Amino acid sequence: MKTFVHRGQITKVVFGSGTRSRIPEEADALGCHRVLILCTPGQADQAAPIRDLLGAAAVGTFAEAAAHTPVEVTEKAVAYAGTVGADSVLAVGGGSTVGLGKAIAVRTGLPQLALPTTYAGSEMTPILGETEGRRKTTRRLPDVLLDTVVYDVDLTLTLPVEISVVSGINAMAHAVETLYAQDRDPIAFLMAGEALDSLTRSLPVIARRPDDAEARADALYGAWLAGTCLGTVGMALHHKVCHVLGGTFGLPHAETHAVVLPHVVAYNGPAAPEAMARIMQALSGDDAASGLFDFAGRLGAPRALRDLGMPESGIEQAAELIVRDGYWNPRPVDRAAVRALLSRAWAGRTPW
Ligand code: NAD
Repeated sequence: MKTFVHRGQITKVVFGSGTRSRIPEEADALGCHRVLILCTPGQADQAAPIRDLLGAAAVGTFAEAAAHTPVEVTEKAVAYAGTVGADSVLAVGGGSTVGLGKAIAVRTGLPQLALPTTYAGSEMTPILGETEGRRKTTRRLPDVLLDTVVYDVDLTLTLPVEISVVSGINAMAHAVETLYAQDRDPIAFLMAGEALDSLTRSLPVIARRPDDAEARADALYGAWLAGTCLGTVGMALHHKVCHVLGGTFGLPHAETHAVVLPHVVAYNGPAAPEAMARIMQALSGDDAASGLFDFAGRLGAPRALRDLGMPESGIEQAAELIVRDGYWNPRPVDRAAVRALLSRAWAGRTPW
């Protein structure tokens, strides 16, 4: 007999093509008439037409969102929000921009909207990661959940293939760790399986034809499901490894997920047969870890942590940090096992 607890999401989700035109009415529905738009410097051009859509309801654009949500950037954005009298924030971008919106909301209580443009899924989670100095901390705060997320497939058409691939694998990692999460429930399991089906189907098409709107819609749908899973259940070894590597060595987020995922799946596989069977169903393969490794390789994803800038001398330090804090994982974790896993991933070797 199944025994479970399921938490529903409060975030309103609008999904489709051309849906960005609904931003003014969605802001209005929240009672927001002084919206501050957030983006990275590289996405200022993508955010400008959204500002035009909002017209007088947009009071400014803060185009300095950065990876891993540095606290100094957030403080500058909070000051700017005060100067322009913003009553809400709208993130136009990926996880970095959504993260900035969350960090502002936690400090000001401002309502949040987002137009996500990658597959990271942060817009569906109550998780806030922030960096101060070289230290990255992560908190789960119900207040951080976004009010409204408008997925517009059109905005993902410009995401370069290399980023699409690793960002999609980042989303697959949320789904994979949901399949064996300690607190998984039947709905989360279904969503995770569906997310894997969508992403394994769409990413190879996107790698060949980045402007294929159907494949882009499929991938964004999978990313939404995977992000919802991430926001609903607890993650395990894979997310811990990526968090430590990103925070300690400044490795790029999605690329790190793409390298590490097959290695953690190989490690956890013997302790999570139901999850492995579902991954294999999505990949139509005989073995989940090799299936993921080959899938990522065929799409041209990076394979080695050394190619992302991790020093070999960092393996020992990372292994220590990864096992230091207790957290649940389907297979017990010890330092020697993590060191071996990291050594293979560092060199770009197969996970088996
Ligand atoms: P990102 O937001 O940094 O985007 C990567 C790059 O792609 C940026 O230069 C961005 O400007 C560009 N880009 C994004 N969308 C584009 C588009 N449609 N067209 C052209 N260029 C585009 O990367 P990300 O992987 O989405 O997010 C990573 C960050 O999100 C990390 O800091 C990570 O910790 C965080 N994250 C948080 C959660 C959470 O639940 N809190 C979940 C996932 C990721």
